[in-house]
Amino acid sequence: MKFGTKVIHAGIEPDPSTGAVMTPIYQTSTYAQEAPGKHKGYEYARTQNPTRHALEQNLAALENGKYATAFGSGMAAMDAIIRLLDPGDEVIASNDLYGGAYRQLTKVHERYGIKAHFVDMTDLGKVEELISKKTKMFWIETPTNPMLNIVDIKAVCKLGKKHKVLTCVDNTFASPYLQTPIDLGADIVVHSATKYLGGHSDVVLGAVIVKKKKLAEKLSFLQNSVGAVPGPHDCFLVLRGIKTLHLRVKRSCKNASKIAKFLKEQPQVDKIYYPGFKDHPGHKIAKEQMRGFGGMVSFSLKKDTLANASKILSNTKLFTLAESLGGVESLIGHPATMTHASIPKEERLKVGLTDSLIRLSVGVEDIEDLIDDLSKAIKKIK
Ligand SMILES: *Cc1c(COP(=O)(O)O)cnc(C)c1O
Repeated sequence: MKFGTKVIHAGIEPDPSTGAVMTPIYQTSTYAQEAPGKHKGYEYARTQNPTRHALEQNLAALENGKYATAFGSGMAAMDAIIRLLDPGDEVIASNDLYGGAYRQLTKVHERYGIKAHFVDMTDLGKVEELISKKTKMFWIETPTNPMLNIVDIKAVCKLGKKHKVLTCVDNTFASPYLQTPIDLGADIVVHSATKYLGGHSDVVLGAVIVKKKKLAEKLSFLQNSVGAVPGPHDCFLVLRGIKTLHLRVKRSCKNASKIAKFLKEQPQVDKIYYPGFKDHPGHKIAKEQMRGFGGMVSFSLKKDTLANASKILSNTKLFTLAESLGGVESLIGHPATMTHASIPKEERLKVGLTDSLIRLSVGVEDIEDLIDDLSKAIKKIK
């Protein structure tokens, strides 16, 4: 099955009890049993829910994995993955990571004896230097947030196999329409389905996709034992969003590419971070491992001040100033004070995350209106 067919059909059957074409929202906490222990595979809704099951089947297919486990948020999904490790184990992660992922590794898991090292994962030599017997997991995000660096998934996975280290890829920014890390050797794929998968900024949900049964069993065990499960209505919303994933992401990519070109012509703009540009350091790898360059564009200003960034951030009308990304509507954000405020200033400056850096999540509106909106806001800077 091709991608545009999978998003609509994979894992989804008309409801066996009524024929309902759309997966029903099974809003129930428990299921009637015919006799003690005799049931239809559903006992209690933390453990199994048919709406969640349909979503998990669908996600497994989209990522070319075999098993998926859904969680109440992307962060809950990450927590389950890190719980696969034991105290004393170490993680090597990108130094330009989603702020919440950095916070979870440093402030939550470190207290339980799991140490994380942060490194520029585009430099494999630096990754290799950090590997020891304790290293049990590589954690990559690509494209990275918000600098849109590209990590070579295949190369990191190869290094992982050599050193018996599991590679986990946060595929939130690309979505499975653009990138399928399992095909490139990844052991685990994690999503904040809150973003492109849901696609309408109306739900928070996370998921983990794997190919190996052993990993899947451990993750289901954690899903049930820790209990950070999504509700059936949220699962329904993500299933519904996924049906147009290919259409939405394709349009976002097209719009983002035009916006990146527009930004290049603006005298107020300094650097533009967009993997679709030929001079982007990760362009070649992006072209190999992705089927498009994504809907995210970041840029900094020549006069690198928070005041100048604020002029743009408070003057766009279509680009809404908000955290998050991947919805049909365009958003504008300021990583230094919003998504990445939990990262110390020295750390963020090291990766180029300056005070004027602005991140755009380009939606699916008409491009002329989006450019007009940005253009008016940028003109506020003299
Ligand atoms: C939003 C996000 C997360 C966290 O997901 P939640 O659903 O908000 O918990 C993790 N990784 C990336 C790349 C994200 O953008």
